[in-house]
Amino acid sequence: MKNIKTRFAPSPTGSLHIGSLRTALYSYALAKHVGGKFILRIEDTDKKREVEGSREEIESQLKSFGIFWDEYHVQSERKSHGVYEKVAKILLDQGNAFYCQCEARNAKKEGYSKVLRDPCRGKYLKSGAVKLKVPDGEMVSYTDYILGKEIKWDTSDVNDATLLKSNGFPTYHLAVVADDHEMNITHALRGYDWLPSTPIHLLVYKYLKYELPEIGHLTDILDPGGGKLSKRKGSVSVNNLLVDGYVRGALLNFVMLLGWAPKDNREFFSMEEFVKAFEKSGFQKSNPVFNREKLDWFNSQYIQKMSDSSLAVELSKHFPDDVDNKFLEKVSALIKTRIKRLPESKELAGFFFERPEVDKKLLGENGLNHLRIAKATLESVTNWKLENINAKLTSMIEENNFKTGDFYMSLRIAITGKKFTPPINESIEILGKEETLKRLKHVIGR
Ligand code: GLU
Repeated sequence: MKNIKTRFAPSPTGSLHIGSLRTALYSYALAKHVGGKFILRIEDTDKKREVEGSREEIESQLKSFGIFWDEYHVQSERKSHGVYEKVAKILLDQGNAFYCQCEARNAKKEGYSKVLRDPCRGKYLKSGAVKLKVPDGEMVSYTDYILGKEIKWDTSDVNDATLLKSNGFPTYHLAVVADDHEMNITHALRGYDWLPSTPIHLLVYKYLKYELPEIGHLTDILDPGGGKLSKRKGSVSVNNLLVDGYVRGALLNFVMLLGWAPKDNREFFSMEEFVKAFEKSGFQKSNPVFNREKLDWFNSQYIQKMSDSSLAVELSKHFPDDVDNKFLEKVSALIKTRIKRLPESKELAGFFFERPEVDKKLLGENGLNHLRIAKATLESVTNWKLENINAKLTSMIEENNFKTGDFYMSLRIAITGKKFTPPINESIEILGKEETLKRLKHVIGR
């Protein structure tokens, strides 16, 4: 048996979408699970839709997730070597394709899109765009690798698709078949929305006498609000999700389970573990939902597991540039169990980096008294360590008959300006004695 060879074939028309990351990941894992090869093929034959910088972005995103390719191909470069013209010529010579000169007209406006049989089909033109001569009344079928069932079409419902445009560029239909064949792709995985183009490809495969690879369509990812997840419905590009504060490991782990599940109910996978576990039987046939709560949960789990120093690196993007690294590591250790997404650290830990505005009305009637005594007590802490701070404050609360909750609320507000913060004694330990006393003095007014 041939070893598995898969490909990810993005068109560089924008940022990497979460669904495309999934296609790339599953294709990669399918091949690597058996030591096969994975290739990246840039499908840039539609020059009008190409977005500058998109190819570079897609490539660097894939690498940042640990998806590396064994071969790299660019269709526009292959086009200049005549790869697609050669294949189109075979189809023309065999009578399975014909020249058409309608292409320059606005097919949509003039209603051609509804006409399956092209008016040029019987004209025997000698130049123009090349179109597939689709027969009427034949059945084409294949068994989908992922959906696990046979899918059939009557060719009477399939249109005379363009294969080569008059400018010499191939369309997706021709390029994908020619390349999957020449690159010895054994398994072509792609998004469900490509299913309608499959009967066209099946005919091209048949006419060229190419062996059909396994073709698998990944289920659509659904939006929790209903319908298909789409760019319009929110930030579903990988880049936007990273900007929203999801960490790569969590995002990847979440995507791993969007349409595939292991035999046991295991949820956490590194890339290596995923590749090891990735078996065909795990493909899910029902459409997965893009569940934000689940993603948030994965993210919080990954943040918790990060080392203080790597979390500090991530958090440094959310805090002032001149922050000391060691200080940031201590803050990271304190907040890592308390955030779901990185930007929440600003709200939760911003007070470490900027003295807060304190609204004295929040302090309550005993507030200033609490703070005066706290200041005197904390001044007497010689070794500024959590256990000493805890001990001194606890006995002070007892001696003064303060209500513990009320006292700590006063302290919390004076130090942070807020009612909800990380544990306050841990926080003042990190802030340091000098800064803590300064903040208390500032609120007390002397
Ligand atoms: N170029 C297509 C895309 O942008 C590839 C589809 C396929 O993998 O066959 O998704």
